[in-house]
Amino acid sequence: QSQEVSQARIDYHVALQALQEHGTRMVCTGKMHTDRICRFDYLCYCSEAEEFVFFHSNSSVMLPNLGSRRFQPALLDLSSVEDHNTQYFNFLELPAAALKFMPKPVFVPDITLILNRFNPDNLMHVFHDDLLPAYYTMKQYSDLDDEARLVFMEGWGEGPHFDLYRLLSSKQPLLKEQLRNFGKLMCFTKSYVGLSKMTTWYQYGFVQPQGPKANILVSGNEIRQFARALMEKMNITRVEEAEKDGGSTEDEKEKEKKDEYIVVFSRSTTRLILNEAELIMALAQEFQMRVVTVSLEEQSFPSIVQVISGASMLVSMHGAQLITSLFLPRGAAVVELFPFAVNPEQYTPYRTLASLPGMDLHYVSWRNTKEENTVTHPERPWEQGGIAHLEKEEQERIQASKDVPRHLCCRNPEWLFRIYQDTLVDIPSFLEVLREGMKTKPSLKKAKVASTVHPGRVREPRCQTSVQTTNEAKLTVSWQIPWNLKFLKVREVKYEVWIQEQGENTYMPYILPQQNYTFSENIKPFTTYLVWVRCIFNKNLLGPFADVLTCRT
Ligand code: UDP
Repeated sequence: QSQEVSQARIDYHVALQALQEHGTRMVCTGKMHTDRICRFDYLCYCSEAEEFVFFHSNSSVMLPNLGSRRFQPALLDLSSVEDHNTQYFNFLELPAAALKFMPKPVFVPDITLILNRFNPDNLMHVFHDDLLPAYYTMKQYSDLDDEARLVFMEGWGEGPHFDLYRLLSSKQPLLKEQLRNFGKLMCFTKSYVGLSKMTTWYQYGFVQPQGPKANILVSGNEIRQFARALMEKMNITRVEEAEKDGGSTEDEKEKEKKDEYIVVFSRSTTRLILNEAELIMALAQEFQMRVVTVSLEEQSFPSIVQVISGASMLVSMHGAQLITSLFLPRGAAVVELFPFAVNPEQYTPYRTLASLPGMDLHYVSWRNTKEENTVTHPERPWEQGGIAHLEKEEQERIQASKDVPRHLCCRNPEWLFRIYQDTLVDIPSFLEVLREGMKTKPSLKKAKVASTVHPGRVREPRCQTSVQTTNEAKLTVSWQIPWNLKFLKVREVKYEVWIQEQGENTYMPYILPQQNYTFSENIKPFTTYLVWVRCIFNKNLLGPFADVLTCRT
């Protein structure tokens, strides 16, 4: 039925005429190819040439009009991974008149989002590189709604997690190979090309060793809203936190405690925990909680999310399955295990996620430091950490090394050798790390109260000065509370005052609880001071500075 509807929505001759007369129109956001998303009318795709085509006519628009800079290196990144040279987007140009000599175009009436998935086989990449960016790109452009069509141009098959991509809209996503079915020339009536990188928090080490992105722009709030939307689509209902907190009688609290459980996310083929049963027993005993295991090999993804969304703790070997911690309830703990010779400080996609402001997850890592507890696999293929293909000397060096040195992505054999080890988890040291790490566990209550509202500017900042003697002067600074404070319950309100003698390049900072203060130390007569004032909520929520005051003693 939807087919009929979409056929009715678009009159072929009108569309063809529009394409011939107006050609392609493109308007983009973003100054650089790395932050660009483009919107097109009548962007076409030639499946024979495997190229997108821009048709020029008198009324076509190409903004930015980069000339040949469009190829230096590309118009935009088609995946959310920054500046990856296999993920560039560009188009061929043709005069609209060429249409006369080309196969009749097939028009796609849906509003389309065109992108590359980065690594659809790996669950971490699916979420971090594709689902979150696509979800928020669709939020950015309101016509990319539930009816939008996604087109994946990276050229891979559906992959093991295609059902997750299906959740993004009600229409089946198209793969590059399927575009051939539309004929030799297809034209997207309205399309967006590219993905927002706003939600990504990790860089995989293509130019510098992997680590958190330099400028993270996402908070736990956006991650959780995305998680909630996805859970709704998967028909997962979880006990709302509000309901959970509602239980206030001792009875109810006791019941809640009983319902708490720990999830061990196990891997069944590589990077194994060799004594999983022992680990589970230890966890159950230590925390007096039920422990359940899940694995991607044994459960459906929605059923795993269902379990994780109610858990108090998620324990797992380092690996892509840990991305599911984004479905944990606030206040839960993420416990990540690392094989021998792998430094947890250097591989932090999940720690960074758990630590995003407002994610309110507690993160603990444990590392196997006992070489006798590791099982290596030198004979395996290189991509699973095998090193048999290397020269003898190099193999020996790797075998002897106790710490993988910093390295770039993605084929460092020493890294792969170590990260694909199986581990016998030393229970005493594991529990020790866990106890130590959980000591600082922030209570959920506290995390909830922590407001995310920032102070406004202090109002009516003023200064008054007086000269006491030839070398003594006073400077009184006063201000009014920020306008939004009167609507807020803030635990602690403080003010920061910076005083700088004009022409000097240092300043004196002061933290004050009240709205005025008279400074006399270090204040000289007949001197000009520049004074900045700002408000601070709860120690670390900084407001903006008010306009600088110029105060002459
Ligand atoms: N995987 C799994 N069980 C295993 C090994 C891997 O479910 O025993 C999944 C893993 O979660 C990821 C994909 O297979 O989605 C690729 O795993 P790989 O070890 O290559 O990547 P990593 O987990 O290190 O990111």
